[in-house]
Amino acid sequence: MAEANSKESQWATATTERLAEAGFRRGGARAAVVALLDEQSCALSAYEIEALLAARERAVGRASIYRILEQLDHLGVLSKVELGQGQARYEPIRPDHHHHHLVCDSCEAVIAFDDAPLERAVESISKRVDFAVEGHEIVLHGLCADCR
Ligand SMILES: [Zn+2]
Ligand SMILES: [Zn+2]
Repeated sequence: MAEANSKESQWATATTERLAEAGFRRGGARAAVVALLDEQSCALSAYEIEALLAARERAVGRASIYRILEQLDHLGVLSKVELGQGQARYEPIRPDHHHHHLVCDSCEAVIAFDDAPLERAVESISKRVDFAVEGHEIVLHGLCADCR
């Protein structure tokens, strides 16, 4: 859809290229999922992706959505937020933006947060350990304001 193309990010452009290199055809359901994820400020579940695409009359079946998310995850362009019980949410890994998540163990709400001192702490640990750290994910579990 034109609405997605006009504000397509670096991430979406790079992801489309990676998919083409990996031999996937352009367009179709895969492009719709990439465009939808690209518009979000945080992670979506497969269920939410299915509902949002259906709402814009771009219906894609749940099984296809899972397969596409797996392909994108395999290409290393998605960050997966594990919610427990095999549930997960996905969001683009963007070079220019990075945040972490609070996960409610009761309603599975996911709230984004970022924190400069936390980033500096991770950076300092990365320098200290004998390991080439290339990324990190921090998930804090608990109960959201509504569930407390
Ligand atoms: Zn997020
Ligand atoms: Zn909650």
